[in-house]
Amino acid sequence: MQTSDSSFSTHDGLNKALELLASPHRGAVDLPFTLPESGLGEMRALEMLSGHVLDKAAQLGSPSSLAHMDPPTPWITWAMALWNASRNQNMLHEATSPFATQAEALVLAWLAPLFGMRGGHFCAGSTIANLTGLWAARDVAGVSTVVTSQAAHLSIEKACRLLRLELVKVSVDRWGRLDREQLPSLDNACLVLTAGTTATGGVDPLDLVGAAKWTHVDAAWAGSLRLSRTHSARLDGIQAADSVAVSAHKWLFQPKDSALVMFRNLDAANAAISFGGGYLASPNVGVQGSRSAAAIPLLATLLAWGREGVAQRLDRLMQMADSLADEIEKCDRLELWGRPQTAINVFRPVGSSTVAFVQALPPGMLSTCVLDGQTWARSVAANPSVDMDGVVEKILAASREDA
Ligand SMILES: *Cc1c(COP(=O)(O)O)cnc(C)c1O
Repeated sequence: MQTSDSSFSTHDGLNKALELLASPHRGAVDLPFTLPESGLGEMRALEMLSGHVLDKAAQLGSPSSLAHMDPPTPWITWAMALWNASRNQNMLHEATSPFATQAEALVLAWLAPLFGMRGGHFCAGSTIANLTGLWAARDVAGVSTVVTSQAAHLSIEKACRLLRLELVKVSVDRWGRLDREQLPSLDNACLVLTAGTTATGGVDPLDLVGAAKWTHVDAAWAGSLRLSRTHSARLDGIQAADSVAVSAHKWLFQPKDSALVMFRNLDAANAAISFGGGYLASPNVGVQGSRSAAAIPLLATLLAWGREGVAQRLDRLMQMADSLADEIEKCDRLELWGRPQTAINVFRPVGSSTVAFVQALPPGMLSTCVLDGQTWARSVAANPSVDMDGVVEKILAASREDA
């Protein structure tokens, strides 16, 4: 009888994987069309896949990468992801994850107070975090309607559909923020405010927090600014929210899937969104069942960098977005949509095609967004290694060619 299967233990192959990760020379070997009958072995599989997995992916940490809310990830999170995969803890079963459970509580104890929240839990993304927040709003506060702005993320609409909540969308002002003059009655409503809209990075007026029976703040993108002493005040008002969503795999530089949903009245929220079960030692909280130990890479990052290390990176990215806006404003061939609020710039070439302009630039430099039926170019400063001078140079050059 076989007693140990070496596929399940540490192995030189892990060094090989690191070697391939660091190597500039990887070949892309064609994959078999059909399920292999006999295995190729781990080493061959690594070699076969390296050129695909590592090279056929956007290089989010490259000097020209400025298009998306997806950041490059610090290496310590790669190490934690490896350790996590090796242990395969399940946050659903504390017996498999005694430390990971503690780690999650610790990270939440560090971060939740910055948002005025008592605690919460990790989940796979802010799509789930928003769904969870609205679920609590419905079942704790008994709301039947969700009021949000037209610039809200599509996950709010998705959550309303799933929860059978009526959705009312309010128009936005010139800066892409919910227009308070257009607010309907908030009777029996949950107000969803966005801190950092996906298209333009707008922050809704957070002094409206508390105006409804339940206020949920979708801070998927800009929530981490609460760690910056320079920019934290941009999100003032969030402390009075009933629930908050933050995607750690966006501006906290975490590998996916990592987000937090947090509650001011944690006990009431948890009571509404928990299920017991015969085989569970403690109740299952939230939307997901089995859940990874996503808190551990974030814990490692926060230990390695401290609040200051996160803040310095965010402050620099905010400043780089500002300097890009300055250059766009100075250039009469480019039109700036508005000053960046949370490190997102929206702009376009004057009198020529925005799509052609974006396509003339290196892939991954800019994305596009549609506002009021018009296409704009969009940059998102999520990459601390971006070469902003180089990017500015290329953008100005492309605007010249275009004209
Ligand atoms: C990205 C984003 C979401 C969704 O978050 P995921 O982590 O991608 O699920 C929700 N709201 C806003 C404002 C976002 O930018």
